[in-house]
Amino acid sequence: MYYPEPISKLIDSFMKLPGIGPKTAARLAFFVLTMKEEDVLTFSKSLIDAKRNLSYCTVCGNITDVDPCHICTDKQRDASIICVVQDTKDVIAMEKMRDYNGLYHVLQGAISPMDGIGPEDINVASLLVRLQSETVQELILATNSTIEGEATAMYISRLVKPSGIRTTRIAHGLPVGGDLEYADEVTLSKAMEGRREL
Ligand SMILES: [Zn+2]
Repeated sequence: MYYPEPISKLIDSFMKLPGIGPKTAARLAFFVLTMKEEDVLTFSKSLIDAKRNLSYCTVCGNITDVDPCHICTDKQRDASIICVVQDTKDVIAMEKMRDYNGLYHVLQGAISPMDGIGPEDINVASLLVRLQSETVQELILATNSTIEGEATAMYISRLVKPSGIRTTRIAHGLPVGGDLEYADEVTLSKAMEGRREL
């Protein structure tokens, strides 16, 4: 009980964020006291708006403020290719690369038996629906090159194989055990070029 209650509550809130320990949380909380009131209002409103106005696209599973999302409804995109990724940050990484013009499917996770996460816990069912109703010719499995990411890619590849749709896996350039979102654009671009049949 070193701090007045409003400050200790604020510190507790900051500590709920990933990578923020007690020291950083205290530093941020005290910084808030020095901020202009209007900036604090804007900040708190952004937090609430982000939480209330964002949902998952019912087609691809990406985070969006309109449903279906801007990527799914973009007629300029090549609807014959779907790139399967683990989360929204991977879509952003791919979009920064700028040479992919197909669609996405965001799993919002990966299969991980160790953590009790099975195929039914990730966004796979809606992918199968898309493959039935759309003119998809290739599925690029761009899950992370971790054990979970590889297992997820294998699972989807086996599931899709009977449909005759080409499934490829991004390969070269990505560090083993690495997350897609941390790859630089050149590495990611190479990984896309080096994708192989599964
Ligand atoms: Zn979408």
